[in-house]
Amino acid sequence: MKASIKRIVIVGGGFAGLNLAKKLANHDIYQVTLVDKNNYHFFPPLLYQVSTAFIEPSNISYPFRRMFQEKRNLSFFMGELQQINHQRNYIETENGTLHYDYLVLAMGTETNYFGMDNVKEKSMPMKTIDDALKLRNHVLLQLEEAARSQNIKEKEKLGNVVIAGGGPTGVEIAGMLAEMGGNIVSKDYPTARKGVGKIYLVDALGTLLAPMSKKSQDEAYQVLSKLGVQIMLNTTVKDYTGDKVIFGDGQSITAATLIWASGVIGRPAPGLPEEVIARGRRIMVDEYNKVNGLENVFALGDISLQQSDEQFPKGHPQLAQVALQQSALLAHNFLNMAEGKSLRPFKYNDKGSMAIIAKFKAVVDLPKGFFKGFFAWLVWLFIHIIPIAGFRNKWMLAMNWFWSFVTNDPTLRLIIRPEKQKKEQPKKELQPLDV
Ligand SMILES: Cc1cc2nc3c(=O)[nH]c(=O)nc-3n(C[C@H](O)[C@H](O)[C@H](O)COP(=O)(O)OP(=O)(O)OC[C@H]3O[C@@H](n4cnc5c(N)ncnc54)[C@H](O)[C@@H]3O)c2cc1C
Repeated sequence: MKASIKRIVIVGGGFAGLNLAKKLANHDIYQVTLVDKNNYHFFPPLLYQVSTAFIEPSNISYPFRRMFQEKRNLSFFMGELQQINHQRNYIETENGTLHYDYLVLAMGTETNYFGMDNVKEKSMPMKTIDDALKLRNHVLLQLEEAARSQNIKEKEKLGNVVIAGGGPTGVEIAGMLAEMGGNIVSKDYPTARKGVGKIYLVDALGTLLAPMSKKSQDEAYQVLSKLGVQIMLNTTVKDYTGDKVIFGDGQSITAATLIWASGVIGRPAPGLPEEVIARGRRIMVDEYNKVNGLENVFALGDISLQQSDEQFPKGHPQLAQVALQQSALLAHNFLNMAEGKSLRPFKYNDKGSMAIIAKFKAVVDLPKGFFKGFFAWLVWLFIHIIPIAGFRNKWMLAMNWFWSFVTNDPTLRLIIRPEKQKKEQPKKELQPLDV
């Protein structure tokens, strides 16, 4: 590799890391290595449809190596970040050590259980494809057991689902499960039906969809209530036994399923100075997404906390658009750096937010307006199919949606439980260009 070529290592191939790599593709001044613990990129906003057996996991996932074919300066390295040595410019993963000229941290967030060990151990999170598949298996297994059980109380517990977190993810999964209960359970599990249980949606705040407009919040409340979802506001989950969800006020509900969609925390970045780690374990960055006090380390997307944008003095919301816009600007700034030009500071362009509540029902908040209903639902589908990686995936997703929405009876309710395969591998010294 020519001495003038700089090596960029990006850790995390989510919206931020992958977009940055793509924007730097074929700019030969940089050799870019994307590091991810999985060998695929996936689309979190549709995870809830995987977990409810509405679409296939492969509809929303795509292998990095396939994306990087014919991108001469991009390479992929599968590994999980273990240590950053910012003094000597390298990172360690379980699969080897990678040296860099510039490091970009884009590992996103993980589920926050707020120190509740039982909840961590026994609830079902919704952050990754693995989580979604585990939840799908779990819900289907509970229904199988409910179908076999002769005991009405037991059936009720097996059918009860408590969802903690009334943000977009909680609302979307509550709507989907309620519709699944109405459309599918009675047909597939006729013996489970009697006393099969309820969907409870619980939030510590006094409203659903807290980050959205009042109109969106009201619409979500009304639509979910009509679907039979039991909405419990101003309610906190305090503990979970695996059979019983216990709330802050001492009340409890027996439920074999607690879905935890209640909070996130930045993924660990071991080796960074302690003073750059802020609340929610986010990494403090300046207006160019450079980590405070470090010259050649950047952080992007959900894991970063940028307070220089005057519209967002407490930092940006942890949303896909922020990750995409920050990474596009950083790519532009890397190219400017190579040409000795000045850098542009980040300003978030808020294009609005949306949530699907049920079939034909969604809400859309725009900077200057709000709309809901069937049109909002169509817009939601359209907006969520565009960023899906790969033409085949878009097509298959559209087909899956068409089939599932028309028939109300998708055929993906398979319980697949692969044996866990884990091999200890010795650590190796590797240079990014060797991979
Ligand atoms: C269920 C769900 C629904 C959502 N719905 C919406 C929505 O409708 N609209 C919206 O705007 N936002 C939504 N979000 C938020 C949105 O997904 C995030 O804001 C966005 O993904 C952030 O992008 P990112 O690149 O910072 O992190 P991520 O997309 O989380 O990517 C992080 C990447 O880093 C990798 N990684 C993590 N740790 C390591 C490590 N130690 N070593 C190597 N690799 C690592 C992961 O495998 C992943 O590929 C949703 C999130 C979830 C979980």
